[in-house]
Amino acid sequence: MIVAMQESATEEQIDAVIDAMEEAGVHVHRTTGEMQTILAAVGPTAGLDLAKFEVLPGVLKVHRISSPYKLAGRAWRPQGTVVEFPNRAAIGGQKVAVIAGPCAVEDRAQIFAIAEAVKAAGGAFLRGGAFKPRSSPYSFQGLGIPGLALMREAADANGLAIVSEVMEIAQIEVMLPYIDCFQVGARNMQNFNLLRELGQVRKPVLLKRGIAATVEELLLSSEYILSGGNYEVILCERGIRTYETATRNTMDISAIPVLKKLSHLPVVADPSHGTGRRDMVAPMAKAAVAAGADALLIEIHPNADKAVSDAAQTMYLEDFAKLTTELRVIAQAVGRTL
Ligand code: PEP
Ligand code: MN
Repeated sequence: MIVAMQESATEEQIDAVIDAMEEAGVHVHRTTGEMQTILAAVGPTAGLDLAKFEVLPGVLKVHRISSPYKLAGRAWRPQGTVVEFPNRAAIGGQKVAVIAGPCAVEDRAQIFAIAEAVKAAGGAFLRGGAFKPRSSPYSFQGLGIPGLALMREAADANGLAIVSEVMEIAQIEVMLPYIDCFQVGARNMQNFNLLRELGQVRKPVLLKRGIAATVEELLLSSEYILSGGNYEVILCERGIRTYETATRNTMDISAIPVLKKLSHLPVVADPSHGTGRRDMVAPMAKAAVAAGADALLIEIHPNADKAVSDAAQTMYLEDFAKLTTELRVIAQAVGRTL
């Protein structure tokens, strides 16, 4: 159930409605937009009498929400969510954000060269894995905390924010001092215990679509984080596994407008994992911006062919710089900046 308050509703009226909802046995999540406050009821809402809430002072309209995701759905925040990174940038606003970096942090020279390239290209976010979910246990597993420390130094030297993957609950606490945004990888999209725990932190979470997950499953996974009270979730389309083998994954561009319609959460497109091929990253990045993506996540490396992980899909720094220039034209054509 969603209760939309009148623009003129007072704080006392809003509090009284929240009290009445809680008395009815549901948990209330509040969103305060520029014009209006919207209250979402989560929990046993099936037996609620909508009319009882509709007549309370300050209430404009009460809707029953039929979708299984209450907090991720557009109705709760019709104006859309902008995730702010103070003194850095935002994701979900008019400007399309660029998140770029290596698949994995490898060494100091590598991450500094990359951070400089991200800044020079107008990007605001440095990505890089320090804990790597590799298909083989014998592949490089990441530098761990020393990798995060290097990334923090390189990001701070260039005024960038950091996005890095968290693989398990025990890593949350240790990562907090180093990162600005947690990434939940495709393989962990349905690690519900991890998602629940990330609902308790107050740092943004970039949630990647699972390798074989539907859009609805992605939104339900985001609901695990949102329902804990962490409303700063960013969704990421990173390609799904289909019968097609020409690309590593099939980049589902249509998921971008679908997610933007169903949800208020910002949507990031990852054409690197989406295609698995360096030569396909630029065209899919352009398509994603044209389709309404709020940000791009791109793997780059000064010596891309020698990257310790995901080399085949990693772009060279010069090609990335050229791509961002071209993307500005696309962004402008769809009423955005980049
Ligand atoms: C990554 O971003 O490097 C990564 C491992 O992504 P995904 O979880 O989408 O495979
Ligand atoms: Mn990767």
